[in-house]
Amino acid sequence: MFSTSQISVINVYSGKIKKILKSKGVERGDRIRIKKGSKIYEGILMPRIQLGDRDSLVIKLENGYNIGLRYSDNVEIELISKHKKVGKKELKPIKYDKNKPRISILSMGGTIASRVDYRTGGVVPRFTAEELIEDVPELREIANIYGRQVESILSENMEFKDYKKLIREVKKEIENGVDGIIITHGTDTLHYTAAALSFALENLPIPVILVGAQRSSDRASSDGPMNLICATQFIAKSDFGEIGVCMHATESDDYCFIHPACKIRKMHTSRRDAFRTINSKPWAKVYPDGRIEFLKEDYVRRDAKRKLVVKDKFEEKTALVKVHPSISPKIIDVLVKEKYRGLVIEGTGLGHAPSGIKDSLKRFLKSGIVVMTSQCLDGRINMNVYSTGRELQEIGVIPGEDMLPEVAYIKLSWLLGNYKDKREIKRLIKTNLRGEISERSEF
Ligand code: GLU
Repeated sequence: MFSTSQISVINVYSGKIKKILKSKGVERGDRIRIKKGSKIYEGILMPRIQLGDRDSLVIKLENGYNIGLRYSDNVEIELISKHKKVGKKELKPIKYDKNKPRISILSMGGTIASRVDYRTGGVVPRFTAEELIEDVPELREIANIYGRQVESILSENMEFKDYKKLIREVKKEIENGVDGIIITHGTDTLHYTAAALSFALENLPIPVILVGAQRSSDRASSDGPMNLICATQFIAKSDFGEIGVCMHATESDDYCFIHPACKIRKMHTSRRDAFRTINSKPWAKVYPDGRIEFLKEDYVRRDAKRKLVVKDKFEEKTALVKVHPSISPKIIDVLVKEKYRGLVIEGTGLGHAPSGIKDSLKRFLKSGIVVMTSQCLDGRINMNVYSTGRELQEIGVIPGEDMLPEVAYIKLSWLLGNYKDKREIKRLIKTNLRGEISERSEF
């Protein structure tokens, strides 16, 4: 383990490189161009890798990868742009414009609020909602923008307590009388949070739009600013009154989709258009200049007079298990032993699980509830076609219709947290409450 000061000492380049960088006015974090022979590399100067060669320059390329280039006489270094100083900016006061809507940005963390840490070379969530707003001045031309940081975490670290905290903050903003809320969030588990908010916030009077980014703000290809602008335009220029997710619709900077909160999934690890609406259609296309094309019209219109009802309990003893060939029944038995109350199975095909776990599922079902979803994601559960499906239904497994596994998991946890009667929970799991189940499968 190294302390911060030790790291900065370790991450220095050789005297030769330091001298040349100094003469060009280049510091860690600056965007530089390196010409080596006939090849040209462009990226951000990173610290030297701890055990790396002191004579090799490390740069982060636009595709996110770091490369090391050994310095020699045929290497030319050119400064393209200086890095932004983090956390030193002062927000200029902006005059309230009564002709513009009031929008609050609540920041949870993730790539959209991240910068490359030039000390360690990793990406860390480290800037506040205020800095985010300052970075995208266009937002203030569209609306009166307020910003507040709720958390600063990577979304894979989120827990039910974080949903609860966010729900409380959303409620506060609604009570403050804003016209819409934007939540900036890590993309990895954004769809879980979107579902949690959808179930917990009943009778929502104003729109709540979740926004993420696949590329941090240091990178020329960052998608965060456009996603934020489109979300702001959508709130300012539409009558939408639900929870939605605003992300790049294509790999270019042309328009964003507003996805339905309970029908969305991250389908690519790095592309900017990673999010896809599953088993439905996006609500709308939004262009950064404010044009909006609705693709579906059956959304809930906003109504500031609607009285919000908050149901924010979640049963933590709920599990989501993906089955696979050779799965051990012991995995289910552990849940029985630990007194889990809810289990969502990410089954195969139409909603199947290997016969080898049937007895364990029977034991779970003595006091718990089991819901079946599919690893296929697209399409609907039908447990009447094959014997494995029929047998699971006979022991009490509930078909989860066309719900996404993650949404079924959040919904079951929420139902177990807020409702007492088991029969009622079983009825509600199959009932469409927030757009999580389509009546018919058209997709
Ligand atoms: N894994 C992080 C998160 O989900 C960063 C990924 C992202 O925001 O796109 O918060």
